[in-house]
Amino acid sequence: MAAKAAAVSGLSVLLLEKRPEVGTPIRCAEAVPSYRLESFFSPRPSWIASPINGGMVETADGTRIVKEFPHVGYVLERKIFDRDLFAFAGESGAHLATRTRATGLVLAGKDISAVKVETERGERKEIGAEVVIAADGVESTTARFAGLEAKCELSQIHSCAQVLVNNIELPFKDYVHFYMGVEIVPGGYAWAFPKGEGRANLGLGITPSLADNGRPATAYLDAFLDRYFPEAKDNIVEFVVGAVPAAAGLKKMYQNNLVIVGDAAHLSDAFSGAGIINALISGDLAGKAAAKFLDGGKKEKIWKEEYYNPLQEQVLRTLNWYKKIKNVINHLNDDELNTTANIINQLMAHSNQKGGVDFLYILRTALLSHPKLLLKSRHILG
Ligand SMILES: Cc1cc2nc3c(=O)[nH]c(=O)nc-3n(C[C@H](O)[C@H](O)[C@H](O)COP(=O)(O)OP(=O)(O)OC[C@H]3O[C@@H](n4cnc5c(N)ncnc54)[C@H](O)[C@@H]3O)c2cc1C
Repeated sequence: MAAKAAAVSGLSVLLLEKRPEVGTPIRCAEAVPSYRLESFFSPRPSWIASPINGGMVETADGTRIVKEFPHVGYVLERKIFDRDLFAFAGESGAHLATRTRATGLVLAGKDISAVKVETERGERKEIGAEVVIAADGVESTTARFAGLEAKCELSQIHSCAQVLVNNIELPFKDYVHFYMGVEIVPGGYAWAFPKGEGRANLGLGITPSLADNGRPATAYLDAFLDRYFPEAKDNIVEFVVGAVPAAAGLKKMYQNNLVIVGDAAHLSDAFSGAGIINALISGDLAGKAAAKFLDGGKKEKIWKEEYYNPLQEQVLRTLNWYKKIKNVINHLNDDELNTTANIINQLMAHSNQKGGVDFLYILRTALLSHPKLLLKSRHILG
């Protein structure tokens, strides 16, 4: 997105990708809200593995919150979506370099003057750059090369494991399914997202600091599959592990001629782990801001006004809110999670909102409406 936006704005752009093909291996459950994706693109049918027409949340005692939301989202086929995005950048004028890894930065004073790269064949080069956009994901090294504090604390990371399985029947065919419970998935949730044709992404993300004796996400995934989808273990097509930054944004997202976007800037949301749309938004803003940056003017002011402030408005405010919700949920035991689910069911039964429901509003109301839950959540939710 950043490369595309910068190229459309008239800049000469080089997009580096260390892998032979962008989008693989995929470390994502691939769900996006439809209206957010459609604010950027008319989705191609090949991007959509399954529509999402509703959701289900199940807590440890089997309490289910089930809600139909027609056309609320998509489960993407990210291998195709990411590759098309990469191609769109090229079609907009960016030069594309796969199998080319950024290995360092050349600094001239505080500014970056070039990016050091290494190709898969072992060739090393320095490529001059007037602006660098770091879009290198959760394992980003670019910000660190520039001397920025970009490490994610263990308490601020979701450790995830996921399998793509076939021959699977979900409780609701085109709904996203979430499973919560301290034993099942400490400090996170498990998911079952439909991928069409009897396939699904089954996975979970835990907060490692809350895990039992350092038990890894893969062990929790095994137990989750045994409990909810025992037939899945014989039908695994793909297995992935990955991390989601849950810090609600880096403290500093730009410096001199460097700007950081997407997961590299820790823009996934702490509650759901979703980061695709925030990567699109931040990439788009950064690409456009880069063009203004090179037009001249006060550099810090341009990043602030053209990148950080709109990001604050469109992404960071909500991320902070999700982070608070996650902090509350992390402190609830299974009984309290079950109670919350029951209150939400009552609230939804009495809600006369047609179509969509503001789920976060309902969750907040649920947490603040029960004396025991209120005690745990009021200082966090205010
Ligand atoms: C298990 C799991 C499930 C998830 N599920 C969802 C979900 O359902 N919905 C959702 O919205 N989000 C989800 N996320 C989060 C989502 O995947 C990320 O937020 C999103 O991919 C971030 O996009 P990005 O472009 O910032 O980073 P990435 O998608 O990680 O892309 C970074 C790119 O940079 C390349 N790269 C890295 N270093 C270098 C280098 N040195 N030189 C050159 N290239 C480099 C990588 O190869 C990669 O192609 C999930 C994450 C995980 C781990």
